Amino acid sequence: MSNAYQHILVAVDLTKDSHLVLKRALPIAERNGARISIIHTLEPLGFAYGGDIPMDLSSIQDQLDTHARERLADIATPHGIKPEDQHVVVGMPDSEIQRFAKDRAVDLIVVGSHGRHGFALLLGSTSTGVLHGAECDVLAVRVGHIDDTDE
Ligand code: AMP
Repeated sequence: MSNAYQHILVAVDLTKDSHLVLKRALPIAERNGARISIIHTLEPLGFAYGGDIPMDLSSIQDQLDTHARERLADIATPHGIKPEDQHVVVGMPDSEIQRFAKDRAVDLIVVGSHGRHGFALLLGSTSTGVLHGAECDVLAVRVGHIDDTDE
């Protein structure tokens, strides 16, 4: 069993695709006897709007955080993922996912991946970003399709 995965990190954007991504990871975890952690990252409001809006954004950030934690629990808890393995962090998805994986000895990251064509392909995706910097295996679960007319 030395090749078995021991810690699988599932990254979810909290859309309906999250269920597909998690459902692909669950049997892998079961077969390997691996722990599953699940992560969602929130963009820092100060990063998006800092300086442009003359107000304290921290209470709005707290509300977004609370809402994201509830959504994440709705997705993860029915599958037996414990609250301590459910993580909401603030930052950019690809770098935060990589950081978490490195800090917590994750050996498989599972992300969703939209089929992209044309211009959308050039814009890249979270799954591409995660793959390029990850120090462990990455499984990209096909979750749908983004046309170049969609973005
Ligand atoms: P994308 O193709 O960039 O829309 O992202 C597809 C996948 O990246 C999603 O199915 C998730 O696995 C992951 N992802 C995107 N945004 C986030 C986020 N904010 N937090 C965690 N994972 C994310």
